[in-house]
Amino acid sequence: MKHIFDYTRDQLKAQMKDVGLKPFRADQAWQWIYQKGLADPEAMTNLGAGDKAKLQENINFKLPEVTAEQKAADGVIKWLFKLEDGQEIETVFIPQGKRGTLCVSSQVGCTLTCRFCHTGTQALARNLTAGEIIAQVWLAKRQLEDFTDADTARKLTNIVFMGMGEPLYNKDNVFDACRILMDEKGFAMGGRKITISTSGVAPEIADIGEDLGVNLAVSLHSADNETRTKIMPLNKKYPLEVLQESLKNFRLRENRRITWEYVLLKGVNDSMEDAEKLLKFIKPFPSLVNLIPFNPWPGSPFECSDLEAQKAFRNRIAKAGVDVTLRLTRGEDILAACGQLRSESSGRSTVSLEYPSVVAVYGNEKQKKLSEEKLKVKIESTEGDS
Ligand code: SAH
Ligand code: SF4
Repeated sequence: MKHIFDYTRDQLKAQMKDVGLKPFRADQAWQWIYQKGLADPEAMTNLGAGDKAKLQENINFKLPEVTAEQKAADGVIKWLFKLEDGQEIETVFIPQGKRGTLCVSSQVGCTLTCRFCHTGTQALARNLTAGEIIAQVWLAKRQLEDFTDADTARKLTNIVFMGMGEPLYNKDNVFDACRILMDEKGFAMGGRKITISTSGVAPEIADIGEDLGVNLAVSLHSADNETRTKIMPLNKKYPLEVLQESLKNFRLRENRRITWEYVLLKGVNDSMEDAEKLLKFIKPFPSLVNLIPFNPWPGSPFECSDLEAQKAFRNRIAKAGVDVTLRLTRGEDILAACGQLRSESSGRSTVSLEYPSVVAVYGNEKQKKLSEEKLKVKIESTEGDS
């Protein structure tokens, strides 16, 4: 049975008709759900008992469970939501002045294995449905008490698909969710307030522009094929030339620009030469470069660039006349920053045995033992060499 959050308004009208209700009931239901924040047919006072029963029988209204809510010192909130099949996903709210951005997940885990990303260590369990994507927004608004009348300023103003997963590998559901977010009778958000972030799934990029009308962010992280392939194996499949070509075919709406995400990794992609390559790659596009200091996670094999290197990189981009932000890391104390999301329900270990100091702190007993043995073997073999 489909969930109520799965339906775009047109789909819900058709469903109403199918179960013998008048199509205008869809608009009424949406008003309760997306404007008043009540997703329970019993609360819909303009429906008769028979209509309520029909809805309950044919549509799933069960909400994901909020299993954890963590607040960071800087106001960032991270929620863990439990889905009907027991899978867990993370959603993060980042307040910043008048703006409140919700970072939503599109998959449980990810098939891609970007080396700097915590989610990348968690195998893909499955795609999220459109309803599960909408549920993150709906529940966040409920938790924030943000279902208020039209005159009150909204707390949640922007959505970014930068949580767990690659949105373009779950395109149909992500696009349906965007339609519900943008629908004037849904969350009524402008396309400018929604950003889909992709690691560079070149053939899928074109449709985001004119058709859907949301913003595009590309996780570039290096404009050098060799380096990019090392840190983002997807680059082997869609190397920089292919990615650039697909972006040239992407019809950017007027007055919009592409956001380039660039995680600064010490000694990997943070030199002046790297900055030059980046500038060359983005030259054909109206651009905003988002520099992100690397957020470490247990077992992560990289270090964050030094502050001096971060600033020098930013200054080089700015000098070329390109808008650039050096993003402050938010929510770090609760592992809610970019790339730190990973539901603990995953069985895969994030701790790499190659980093004994990390294993010593974060590893489980078995890993600690293995690590010790590995070290022992290493020492013994070196001794043998001499
Ligand atoms: N899969 C999509 C969207 C989710 S990742 C994508 O890759 O674009 C959201 C952003 O967080 C991406 O730009 C990603 O590269 C970045 N990110 C991943 N791990 C990170 C880390 N450890 N520190 C900082 N940013 C990270
Ligand atoms: Fe997946 Fe994005 Fe993480 Fe890469 S950075 S592993 S694409 S979530």
